[in-house]
Amino acid sequence: MNKPNNQKKTNSQNTQSEVSFADMELTDEMMKALERAGYETPSPVQAGVIPPVLDGQDVMGQAQTGTGKTAAFAIPILEQLAPREEISSVQALVLVPTRELAVQVRNEFEKLAYFMDFKTVAIYGGHSIRKQIEELKRGVQVVVGTPGRVLDHIRRKTLDLRETWCVTLDEADRMLDIGFRPDIERILSSISRKDRQTLLLSATVPPSIERLAKRYMHEPTVLDFSKDAVSGDSIEQYYFSVDKVKKFELLERLLNREKPEQAIIFCRTRRGTYKLAKRLKESFSHVGCIHGDMNQPVRDRVMKKFRDEQLKILVATDVVGRGIDVTTISHIINFDTPEDCDDYVHRIGRTGRMGKEGVAYTFVSEDDGELLTRIEIRVNQLLEQVYMEGMELKREVKQDVNPERLAAVAAMRGRGPKKHRRRL
Ligand code: AMP
Repeated sequence: MNKPNNQKKTNSQNTQSEVSFADMELTDEMMKALERAGYETPSPVQAGVIPPVLDGQDVMGQAQTGTGKTAAFAIPILEQLAPREEISSVQALVLVPTRELAVQVRNEFEKLAYFMDFKTVAIYGGHSIRKQIEELKRGVQVVVGTPGRVLDHIRRKTLDLRETWCVTLDEADRMLDIGFRPDIERILSSISRKDRQTLLLSATVPPSIERLAKRYMHEPTVLDFSKDAVSGDSIEQYYFSVDKVKKFELLERLLNREKPEQAIIFCRTRRGTYKLAKRLKESFSHVGCIHGDMNQPVRDRVMKKFRDEQLKILVATDVVGRGIDVTTISHIINFDTPEDCDDYVHRIGRTGRMGKEGVAYTFVSEDDGELLTRIEIRVNQLLEQVYMEGMELKREVKQDVNPERLAAVAAMRGRGPKKHRRRL
């Protein structure tokens, strides 16, 4: 594969994609699939990523979900696959952090390969490995999987990566957060083709990601779409100041007032998620919940119901905070203020997708003032405080957030409390 020696760094902030899919010289099959999917014009991420990937370059793109990033790598990968008759084993591998994302990325590949003779499978833990082995044996071109399970298949010799020319690390920052670095490195080292094309998508690019890219990528084209997503122009962001004991009452009132088309309510812990969903079910219908204690088939069923709009309210931990794409989500409610401001960005990124409007409410209680300020620094805007009729406040959580205070907190950023790893 041709790998030019130029490293480009582009900040694509505010890029209006003037390119059309037709300009990209895609195959007729792909053009038909795009039409069928209703994708008329490329999103900025797609306009930036597709051409260099089609050109055979390694690409590192800083982009969130909701920006069309999956198709940004799926389109050029599918366009470059050799026909089944030429190569019958796996040609492209996509590594993702969660099972839900594996299913979602697989679905996007299948949608875009609708008029092509290519097969994509999702392999992830919690599902029968035997079934996956059978699927792999039948011959697939693209594998989307979580690192642990992919490695498991490599060790069992049920996944043959000798002909794999493209590896994509999707949500790379999240994979490293979860502790997948050793697995990812083992997988990358096990791919023998010298002309490997490596793609890396990540919402944030901390030094750990840069090191990974340096070690395993060949002079990548670096594209930064992060500003587009973080500004969250299509998302209105508000917060309520609320006593801990009044949070449930506030939630009920808010849901009754807003009547969301579909909402995700985020909690910090698995137990909290379960308890909140149980309470909500007493007064609302179409409520579901999803967290890491549930087994995979149950999680898949819940996500399917939510996608099919049989569920209107989904109570969740951050396990669905990243990567899950349901375009009808109108409301994000942070019942617990996220401890990690990147989680906040990912949570609110579930709404306002592909230009649709969305609203995010964050409940801020007694001890959360500092977290709120950190979030405001991260999104570079002050969240507007709103009030609920009939619920007067005993006390303001924070009255003194102003630009000077933000600047002061920005200066001490990095010296904050240690992050604790939560089981999501
Ligand atoms: P992603 O960022 O990959 O999670 O995609 C977000 C959503 O945008 C998904 O529902 C995609 O199906 C949809 N999408 C991706 N590309 C386009 C496009 N060019 N036009 C319209 N919708 C798109």
